Amino acid sequence: AAAAGLCRYSTAADTASAMQRSSPPRVRNLIGGEFVESQSDASIDVINPATQEVVSRVPLTTNEEFRAAVAAAKHAFPSWRNTPVTSRQRIMLKLQELIRRDIDKLALNITTEQGKTLKDAQGDVFRGLEVVEHACGMASLQMGEFVSNVAHGIDTYSVREPLGVCAGICPFNFPAMIPLWMFPVAVTSGNTFVLKPSEKDPGASMMLAELAMEAGLPDGVLNIVHGTHDVVDNICDDEDIKAISFVGSNRAGMHIYGRAAAKGKRVQSNMGAKNHAVIMPDASPDATLNALVAAGFGAAGQRCMALSTVVFVGDSKPWVDELIEHAKALKVSAGVEPGADLGPVISREAKERICRLIQSGLESGARLVLDGRNIVVPGYEDGNFVGPTIIADVKNSMECYEEEIFGPVLLCMQADSLDEAIKIVNQNKYGNGASIFTTSGVAARKFQNEIEAGQASTMTSVPFLSIHSHYFIPINQCRCSVNPKAPAHLPLPPPDSITSPSNPLVKHCVKLRLSSSY
Ligand code: NAD
Repeated sequence: AAAAGLCRYSTAADTASAMQRSSPPRVRNLIGGEFVESQSDASIDVINPATQEVVSRVPLTTNEEFRAAVAAAKHAFPSWRNTPVTSRQRIMLKLQELIRRDIDKLALNITTEQGKTLKDAQGDVFRGLEVVEHACGMASLQMGEFVSNVAHGIDTYSVREPLGVCAGICPFNFPAMIPLWMFPVAVTSGNTFVLKPSEKDPGASMMLAELAMEAGLPDGVLNIVHGTHDVVDNICDDEDIKAISFVGSNRAGMHIYGRAAAKGKRVQSNMGAKNHAVIMPDASPDATLNALVAAGFGAAGQRCMALSTVVFVGDSKPWVDELIEHAKALKVSAGVEPGADLGPVISREAKERICRLIQSGLESGARLVLDGRNIVVPGYEDGNFVGPTIIADVKNSMECYEEEIFGPVLLCMQADSLDEAIKIVNQNKYGNGASIFTTSGVAARKFQNEIEAGQASTMTSVPFLSIHSHYFIPINQCRCSVNPKAPAHLPLPPPDSITSPSNPLVKHCVKLRLSSSY
């Protein structure tokens, strides 16, 4: 564990004594500026998915410890919100420097706990680093507005104010980027924060918290509690937490959105995905095949923006044959191995689920043209590896199409026209991203206009178009950001929790109506 760049947050002494006992170190909570051992007897093993080695153990935080973390955040709020924004953003300037300094250590920790290749792990940190850089401009981002003489002799202005204690609940697939979507922007805009990392790979969050404190973040501004459903429910129910940013599966996201909104909280719920690529007959073959393979199998398909379905317009056979050859060339191995293109999936359960969904496709009439289920990686025979898998002749009624697989599996479908392809994409219940590969500007424009997805991209001479924003700005805004197709499936918060005049958050919104437009 020490070699994996782990556990300054569980202290060198912990690591040494754990090694003597030959038991893995227990990850600590961060409460009021102290890294503290949980009193809970219960914990979950953090397992290296390439080797099954237990890297560390995550405590199931007790209710008292959770309350202590929220109390620390609440206590820190008054002085932190009154700290000049220039001082707050200066801490982010320092933090981005420290993240750059430690990027290799962070990446090694991510590869050890999550399994992705070191290169992908560096990308994970780098994407989060960009949000920290963004937060360095908070003095400008937080500016209000002024309208002169809105009525005779009356001017009106809007001010962006922090809400108070905010919380973040993270998934396993980007252990650095997603915590960095959340706390840097939240705290730099004057909020205090309680973060719950994924119980599967908490290490990067802890290292980032250490760096944030080294950068000068005052005690209590950022707190971390570990656990699973119980601590999440505590976050949803706690009266002192004003807003939640969640990233993860639909199941958890819908639960959290409903439960927290019922308590009058603002909830940002970024959930599951089924991302499509439409391939027109005129698409440039090399660029297209390289992109399909990288987007479909990179990070073992465990990206919210991973490509899961390819819709070929016209005859798909030549494309599928080539795709198989490109996919076979990928090297599957532990993320630390040089030249690895994809590592293992996160857990044995995840592998079993992926294999079950592949099998269900076959049983409902699809063709398995590349089967990665039985791959054995020399030296890592116990790893949760699934090799690149391609399923052809997929229909939209199949379970493998309806469910998010979240593994290195590409589904291939066929459409007779662009209209039909767009209809297939738009009918899918998920809507994170969709892309088109074509050399026709007309087709690209039609796709951009008609596709219903959070991110639309075109691979032509027209550059990427993106209309999806993730990071969390919990200041004065009554908003719920979800995948564009998700709201219809979500339970709406009870109207009273939003509209009641006694709800202080609503007063806030009314007072600041002018600023709540994005
Ligand atoms: P997950 O939903 O299992 O876990 C996410 C978090 O929710 C964890 O912290 C977990 O402890 C908690 N949790 C899980 N089930 C819960 C429940 N029933 N009640 C309360 N809390 C619960 O997600 P994951 O497997 O860690 O991550 C993969 C998922 O995240 C995929 O569906 C992926 O598409 C999605 N994701 C979405 C985005 C996005 O921006 N839309 C980005 C990354 C990942």
